[in-house]
Amino acid sequence: MEDCIFCKIINGIVPSNKIFEDDLVFAFRDIHPVAPAHILIIPKKHYPNLEAIDATDQPLLSHLLHAVNLIARQECLDKNGYRIAINCGPWGGQVVQHLHMHLLGGRKLADELG
Ligand code: 5GP
Ligand code: ZN
Repeated sequence: MEDCIFCKIINGIVPSNKIFEDDLVFAFRDIHPVAPAHILIIPKKHYPNLEAIDATDQPLLSHLLHAVNLIARQECLDKNGYRIAINCGPWGGQVVQHLHMHLLGGRKLADELG
């Protein structure tokens, strides 16, 4: 999508610190990390958020979660653990309107969500 910053990152128009890519998924370091490891994992296809996903997209969601596994191992987060967060909509704190998962790790995370 033309105006989308994450689509521009996928296309290399905006630079990023890429750590993983396959045919469906792109992952890169968050520009404002809130943990020692803060990685954004996104589908290459533009979806505004999780609410734009439907039943036909279930294989993609599965693929995204498998990418989480691969990236967690690659970044040595698998042993101590990590957290995945998907912000959706204004009350969910979503700022960038391209579906993305935050992968957070590298320290003990706070017990509370929200
Ligand atoms: P959201 O609040 O929408 O779930 O999270 C968007 C995330 O994207 C934020 O953590 C923000 O720091 C990150 N972000 C926004 N613009 C850029 C960018 O141009 N490059 C990178 N690497 N991260 C970005
Ligand atoms: Zn996009």
